[in-house]
Amino acid sequence: MSCLLRYSRWLSRFKSRQSQKNQLLAFSSEAATEKPRPPPIRVGLTESAGRGVFATRRIGAGDVIHSAKPIVSHPSLSSISTVCYFCLKKLNFVEFKSQSVAFCSSECELNAKVFYDVETKGDWLAFDDYCRTQGLKYPLVVKRLACLVISGAASAESLDILQPASLSREMILEMEEGFGLLKSGFVNSNIADEQIAFLTKQWYINVLARIRINAFRIELAVGLHEDLLSSAAACIEAEAAVGSAVYMLPSFYNHDCDPNTHIIWIENADARLKALRDIEADEELRICYIDASMDHDARQKILLQGFGFKCNCLRCMSGE
Ligand SMILES: [Zn+2]
Ligand SMILES: [Zn+2]
Repeated sequence: MSCLLRYSRWLSRFKSRQSQKNQLLAFSSEAATEKPRPPPIRVGLTESAGRGVFATRRIGAGDVIHSAKPIVSHPSLSSISTVCYFCLKKLNFVEFKSQSVAFCSSECELNAKVFYDVETKGDWLAFDDYCRTQGLKYPLVVKRLACLVISGAASAESLDILQPASLSREMILEMEEGFGLLKSGFVNSNIADEQIAFLTKQWYINVLARIRINAFRIELAVGLHEDLLSSAAACIEAEAAVGSAVYMLPSFYNHDCDPNTHIIWIENADARLKALRDIEADEELRICYIDASMDHDARQKILLQGFGFKCNCLRCMSGE
């Protein structure tokens, strides 16, 4: 059962509790769903973990609480020739034209114009090569966000609401090469200087710091009925991450080693938050950021090192 929870979900909590006081955000559905009803959740403050997501009414086990479209996503380099370059849906056909990317539908091709028209003006050989040889996926997400900002489809501050990872001097130094290569990708692109004025080293580092702890690793359950996801099937799929994506609302969920909610992807990067058990009104909704099958010490270590907090969930407090 724990295989379903096996994704590297990165932490998001408030960076500043003070500025968020009295700010209880009520969210309407991020994605168009079958029912126009707003999702039964609100974002509010928790006692100890900053921002959190709470149920506004009773939610039944197995219910889809809401869905969410990514703010920005990117296929992993190993999946680029097998998934839609926009929504990350797996492609059944391999019909790549002169370009090295493909789309699952004309709709996705149209939706992708907001970054793809800018991206194709640049030269990404060196940048992509850097990501490939270093095994980096998040700089690709930054590149796509930069293209979205240049086209005017996204604000340069889109991710500022998310909590950043704290970075060591060493990590920042490591990012400088990526920044240089990203910037030089646009050099001969005929994009006006003022359009890329936002693209500073500080912007790059700030964005990457947020992606590092807020990006979800997307594992599709494609071809499987979601309710039939056996742990065995999920384990096989778990090795097939198709890419990374950053969301707004899903990033507000806090962690629990015994969560009442999980996040799943059926056929593309659109995320679904699902109740794992009955949830009462005003109960906090939590997901598990790590492999819940690990033992107490392993979970504590990973959460502290990867996410920067000591887990005090009921399961951890009981020493289980
Ligand atoms: Zn698509
Ligand atoms: Zn815990």
